Amino acid sequence: MPVHTAECPECAATLTLPAGTVLNELISCKDCGTELEVVALNPAQVDYAPEVEEDWGE
Ligand SMILES: [Zn+2]
Repeated sequence: MPVHTAECPECAATLTLPAGTVLNELISCKDCGTELEVVALNPAQVDYAPEVEEDWGE
């Protein structure tokens, strides 16, 4: 499996996603500590993880 990398939206650090990373997995940026969620693979993309559980409807 290829190693995925994604860019932190907070500090632009390059994050290496471990092999076996799955969609919606939560990771933390090693540089700024921001909680991130894997929102896409191939290519990998991360976005801010939801901080609080809220009902957005739907
Ligand atoms: Zn970061």
